[in-house]
Amino acid sequence: MLIVMRQDATAEQIQAVVEKIKELGFKPHAIPGSERTAIGITGNHGPVEPDLFELLPGVAQAIPVSQPFKLVSSEVKPERTVVNVNGATIGGESLAVMAGPCSVESESQLMACARAAKAAGAQFLRGGAFKPRTSPYDFQGLKEDGLKLLALAREETGLKVVTEVMSPGTVDMVARYADVLQIGARNMQNFPLLEEVGDAKRPVLLKRGLSATIKELLMAAEYIASRGNYEIVLCERGIRTFETMTRNTLDLGAVIVLKQLSHLPVIVDPSHGFGLRYGVIPLARAGVAVGADGLIVEIHPEPEHALSDGPQSLTLPMFQELMRQIRLVASSIGRRI
Ligand code: PEP
Ligand code: MN
Repeated sequence: MLIVMRQDATAEQIQAVVEKIKELGFKPHAIPGSERTAIGITGNHGPVEPDLFELLPGVAQAIPVSQPFKLVSSEVKPERTVVNVNGATIGGESLAVMAGPCSVESESQLMACARAAKAAGAQFLRGGAFKPRTSPYDFQGLKEDGLKLLALAREETGLKVVTEVMSPGTVDMVARYADVLQIGARNMQNFPLLEEVGDAKRPVLLKRGLSATIKELLMAAEYIASRGNYEIVLCERGIRTFETMTRNTLDLGAVIVLKQLSHLPVIVDPSHGFGLRYGVIPLARAGVAVGADGLIVEIHPEPEHALSDGPQSLTLPMFQELMRQIRLVASSIGRRI
């Protein structure tokens, strides 16, 4: 249920609706909008009687929300969300570009990436300190030492830090260093983790699970929003299909569907979406063309020596070329970087 207030509703009238929702044992969610105030209701297990609200002063309408992902749906909020990460925005007219190594490996490796990312025009530095690896014998990340290096790189370059958090118990620690908490594909349905980042009051980058449907991705986002954290960015990073020539199949149609069904910004990860360096620039162009609000790209000063995802990591000059090309695509569709 969504309670839409009249444009001239007073603060007291809005508060009375909030109190009424609480009184019924449900949770109110104020949905910001430039034209009107709306209040979403969650926590109800059956339909809510519209009359309970429509008779209250200041209420324009009580609308049932048909989608199961309520708070993140465009039914509840027709305007697009712009996530503001300490001054760097995701969503809106300008594209957000996140670049950096798959794993933080050393100060020199990370700083080389950060400087190249900054020089080419990215606003965010990505880099994993906690790595979800298929084999327990593979490099697992530098953990807190990696987070410290990310913070150091932010200090020098001003880039905002995006890094993965893998377990509910480390959310506090990662949030001390990160500007954006990344939920990896393998954890998209780790519900305790989603709840913990929902409580964390930090923007979240939620990557689509390896075999997750679009609806499952939106329901995962809803877990985060239901805890009161609405600063969520969705990421299409390729799904597992019968195809074996590429690491994953980048589902660009999903970007279109997600932007239709949800007000949240959507970015594309062409690196994991293809798995091989030569496909990254073309898919980055395609992602921008299809309407993504940004990109997350893996880069490395020496991809052949990378401790993870070397084959899909762009060299630093290649990243510069990627930026040049996506600027052209962006300007042709009325967006910029
Ligand atoms: C990553 O970003 O390095 C990563 C592990 O991505 P994903 O969770 O999409 O596989
Ligand atoms: Mn990776």
